[in-house]
Amino acid sequence: GDDLEMLEGAGDGEEGVRYEPALPVIAIVGRPNVGKSALVNRILGRREAVVEDTPGVTRDRVSYRGEWLGRRFTLVDTGGWEPDAKGIDASVAAQAEVAIDLADVVLFVVDAVVGATSTDEHVVRLLRKTKKPVFLLANKIDDTRQEPEAAALWNLGLGEPYPVSALHGRGVADMLDEVFKVLPEVSAVAKQEVGGPRRVAIVGRPNVGKSSLLNKAAREERVVVNELAGTTRDPVDEQIELGGKVWRFVDTAGIRRRVHLQQGADFYASLRTQAALEKAEVAVVVIDVSQPISEQDVRIIDLVLESGRALVIAYNKWDLLDDDRRRYLEREIEQDLAHVAWAPRVNISARTGRHLEKLVPALELALESWDTRIPTGKFNAFLTELTQEHPHPVRGGKQPRILFGTQAATRPPTFVLFTTGFLDPGYRRYIQRRLRELYGFAGTPIVVNMRVRE
Ligand code: GDP
Repeated sequence: GDDLEMLEGAGDGEEGVRYEPALPVIAIVGRPNVGKSALVNRILGRREAVVEDTPGVTRDRVSYRGEWLGRRFTLVDTGGWEPDAKGIDASVAAQAEVAIDLADVVLFVVDAVVGATSTDEHVVRLLRKTKKPVFLLANKIDDTRQEPEAAALWNLGLGEPYPVSALHGRGVADMLDEVFKVLPEVSAVAKQEVGGPRRVAIVGRPNVGKSSLLNKAAREERVVVNELAGTTRDPVDEQIELGGKVWRFVDTAGIRRRVHLQQGADFYASLRTQAALEKAEVAVVVIDVSQPISEQDVRIIDLVLESGRALVIAYNKWDLLDDDRRRYLEREIEQDLAHVAWAPRVNISARTGRHLEKLVPALELALESWDTRIPTGKFNAFLTELTQEHPHPVRGGKQPRILFGTQAATRPPTFVLFTTGFLDPGYRRYIQRRLRELYGFAGTPIVVNMRVRE
């Protein structure tokens, strides 16, 4: 993706920061066509034409930043995959599972005009098992006359139905007021005490060895605490001592629980990945070296970059590598993963335990980079030297100049440049390249924002 973002006004420079320390997570669950997309747009206050639920549509993006009366949150739309009639139950169950594991509050949307279907009842059974707050939204209640239809949903046993019209906005504000009464300020799911264990997400496509890696690590070391998420179901995270330090591995439940779906398995894997990244500070992307690097591997890495988390790449199944495959592998890495050449790399075997001890230093390095702050003076000396060596090219008789720069945030390192005009994308990449040459930033994405002063 593009690292640049146009910034407006003279804020405190915190715009464009992607990492949010454990914003509370609201997840939306519901079968197709109940109005989830409309509700997402409504909650986010987006002005664009409301998207209809379209069967068969896969949306890549599932998590959004939102703000309600000054409180910020992450909204996860679990319904991006709309299966055909046969797959609906399994698919909605998968949504509910992710929501229950990884959200602080679940919004369950039912079409009140149609009434509860057997699929809805299937979800209800799952939702009743969680202690997390669940809000039952009776959608498509466009006026008062329809409210009895909402009341009919009392019989689902999920408490009071909230009559809403996602399309027209009716009832949504009242519902959100109630949601924010129970939504924690900081996600309980990702809660980290000061100086507490750092949070790691192990991600990667199915069968690359995520669960083997986790098991090997947990077996050789001590699993410290097992009961973390406080749900009635399996624990979602595990704390494991590695290299003399306790680490919190997020959504290990998701790694252990496999998605058995005919359709949409990729979507739910990606949903889980994105939700786990929300909770994590650093991601270990596991790649199976016995297989060619695939588009899906690259997509998962891109999800990490988008999330702004630190990144370590673990090349697993090293025991299966012969010389031929190894040559191909290095070529594939050069071709497909050149954009993350800065990520610490470990060549491991979850089966034999080879080089597993290298994982911890790699995680530490990535997190250290992620936390790095360059003092403003130093950064401006860097900019001065850089622009003297290699000035921005003249464009249409004008030469955009960088007036001043500062690092607005860490986690990941985020820089803001005050300029007299737009910088070419190539020039911005040049700045990033030089930043890495000088400071390394191994294992962290870096963000360079620009604020144009006319
Ligand atoms: P996950 O879906 O990413 O959690 O993958 P699993 O951990 O379930 O592993 C998928 C398969 O790969 C299993 O049959 C594992 O035994 C195997 N596997 C995992 N790691 C290694 C490894 O380092 N070497 C070899 N040879 N096989 C592995």
